[in-house]
Amino acid sequence: MRIALIAHDNRKLAMIKLVQDNKNAFEGHELFATGTTGKLIAEHTGLPVHSFLSGPLGGDQQIGSLVATGGMDMVIFLRDPLTAMPHEPDVSALLRLCDVRDIPVATNMGSARMFVDDLLKAK
Ligand code: PGA
Repeated sequence: MRIALIAHDNRKLAMIKLVQDNKNAFEGHELFATGTTGKLIAEHTGLPVHSFLSGPLGGDQQIGSLVATGGMDMVIFLRDPLTAMPHEPDVSALLRLCDVRDIPVATNMGSARMFVDDLLKAK
């Protein structure tokens, strides 16, 4: 599976912990991420991550383009609902593309954990 991982700044620790605690679930899948999220995940887990630009610089749009063309199977996007994002239009556009293509997208830890359970079951 091709899995995109994105976390807003206040959610980055939660994302790192999610991948660390469930490394075996993510192992063997192709991981993609926005710049900073990807760098942190790779540093803390040792898993290979294809990192795009940072979110505010267009990383969300780069991932969106893959979603739009059928190049992504799952998106875990831990959003910070309490902070205004300068690139909110890109965030909304990415979520919209996931809905257009019926790509599963988790936007909080509750749904992210269910996705991880699913990855484990499929092993
Ligand atoms: P980042 O981008 O991983 O480069 O911080 C995430 C985002 O803000 O969409």
